Amino acid sequence: MRDGHIHTPFCPHGSNDSFVQYIERAIELGYTDISFTEHAPLPSAFVDPTPEQDSAMAMEQLDSYISTLQRIKKQYQTDITIRIGLEVDFIIGYEEETARFLEEIGPELDDSILSVHFLPANGQYFCLDYSPDMFQAMTEAFGSVSLAHEAYYHAVLQAVRADLGAYKPKRIGHLTLVHKFQKQFPCPVSMAERIVHILDEIKARQYELDYNGAGVQKPLCKEPYPPHWVVHEALKRNIPLVYGSDAHCARDLHQGREQMVREAFSESTL
Ligand SMILES: [Zn+2]
Ligand SMILES: [Zn+2]
Repeated sequence: MRDGHIHTPFCPHGSNDSFVQYIERAIELGYTDISFTEHAPLPSAFVDPTPEQDSAMAMEQLDSYISTLQRIKKQYQTDITIRIGLEVDFIIGYEEETARFLEEIGPELDDSILSVHFLPANGQYFCLDYSPDMFQAMTEAFGSVSLAHEAYYHAVLQAVRADLGAYKPKRIGHLTLVHKFQKQFPCPVSMAERIVHILDEIKARQYELDYNGAGVQKPLCKEPYPPHWVVHEALKRNIPLVYGSDAHCARDLHQGREQMVREAFSESTL
């Protein structure tokens, strides 16, 4: 029982639930292996487009984050495996700074995820999963919902292909995050071909997929990232899937998992 994607009290847009609350809850749920993957500090020159600029941990907190986790990991070593991780943003135009950051912090990490949350359009960046309003503004900047989806999958493809050095994360975060508000902004054009192409590139590099349960609970999404047909394609290619609750509070651990397992099981019995 592994959860490879958990946020922490170091998340400025998350909850203040303590590490102990997350860990005790994970143990209660039967988990034996968990990764804390806080949003890594954003590149210093990047301006966070969210209103509170709270998408990621501040650079000044990073040392404290790592040392706290080193202590807690030891403290719980006989009860549960705790991996020290980060969810690192892939931002088009900031590849070099991200590579330098990874080179520095990489040796401290047991695990990490590479995710796309920000996209440039018309000379400004948008956070694609912040709110329906910002998503709408982003689609207007791109010209349409389909063009926004295209840009997103193009960025994910670049993330997979990017040379970010020896410590580049091996797991791609919530592959279909652009579907978060899909009930309000359905994409009229199928992105299946682009997604399958990304899976082939993931396979070629022996990367993994974050099989993320957060979307299941989101009222405008109602499916995991990625949805079942993508999981099916990933399994056909033997791409490892690592469940991620993406919990931002202890209560959200395990979210979506029952439904994901149920779907996977019904598929395998076909
Ligand atoms: Zn977050
Ligand atoms: Zn994320």
